Amino acid sequence: MVQRYPTKKIFIKDVAIGGDAPISVQSMTFSDTRDVEATLEQIKRLHFAGADIVRVAVPDMEAAKALKEISEQSTLPLVADIHFHYKLALEAAKWVDAIRFNPGNIGEKSRIKEIVKACKERNLPIRVGVNAGSLEKEFEQKYGTTAEGMVASAEYNIKFLEDLGFTDIKVSMKASDVQRTVEAYRMLRPRNNYPFHLGVTEAGTLHHATIKSAIGLGALLLDGIGDTMRVSITGELENEILIAKDILKDSGRLQEGLNIISCPTCGRIEADLVSAVAEVQERTKHIKKPLNVSVMGCVVNAIGEAKHADVAIAYGKGVGLIMVKGKQVAKLPESELVDRFVQEVEKLANEGE
Ligand code: SF4
Repeated sequence: MVQRYPTKKIFIKDVAIGGDAPISVQSMTFSDTRDVEATLEQIKRLHFAGADIVRVAVPDMEAAKALKEISEQSTLPLVADIHFHYKLALEAAKWVDAIRFNPGNIGEKSRIKEIVKACKERNLPIRVGVNAGSLEKEFEQKYGTTAEGMVASAEYNIKFLEDLGFTDIKVSMKASDVQRTVEAYRMLRPRNNYPFHLGVTEAGTLHHATIKSAIGLGALLLDGIGDTMRVSITGELENEILIAKDILKDSGRLQEGLNIISCPTCGRIEADLVSAVAEVQERTKHIKKPLNVSVMGCVVNAIGEAKHADVAIAYGKGVGLIMVKGKQVAKLPESELVDRFVQEVEKLANEGE
């Protein structure tokens, strides 16, 4: 497997990003940030789903002031998302754990200096977050909304911060299509060592966002690029975390929970495999220990898969086999297979605890 690109390690509160730190997963609330209770409720949901970091929009001063109470009660490190208004950044910097803003769209240098000073005082990192849809005019005129334009904007904003002696930076460059996003990250990666926040922006509803993110983020992760990530989906918050974790697992960047191998079924099937896999998934989703399991429709491929699986089922006609570490441990009626399978998985999951 390709080694991860060696990046600088920064911290958002107690969550490390970059270097040898695990790739963290983050999301963003969609509540009105001025509504403290609703925002905290969404943060709680994200925490429960397994998020490491949460970002909140700060559209006005009332929202910036609400961050005090939100940060006091938040169960996740908090990032403030700021556009254009330096006073909002200054207020937010009193309460949150990191700021996302682009120096280029704040205006006067003295204002940027004030924000950087406030961040330095509280050890807050800054995310330079380039979005292809809102490039600075000069770069859009020169490059259009291309990957080159995104990289030029990122480097311009990074230099702004570096010139002020600030290097606790992470960088994102998001476009709504996969090709530009991947191209931009690949282009910028060898040119600095700041940690990268990966994402495809405005990726769409569940189905399309999953595909776009799996292709884009997956390609980058396989290249060894990426230190933290967000899968953005129009829909339920929890799905963002679930899918991000699955992308990490299938890219080999996260060892956590069950890797379930199941066959697509074919004319040889003589059991209800679809229901069996769904039941296995539901009954084992709490398990964190990394285990390979397989649930196969017949013995044709089941024995081969079972050799590499910690626990396996091979269905037959009305009966099936349970295998542990490639060895048959039981032959049972179909109705008892999932129960026994889950028992064996639980046993392995609890081993060494
Ligand atoms: S394991 Fe058996 S049922 Fe499943 S796809 Fe292969 S041959 Fe078909």
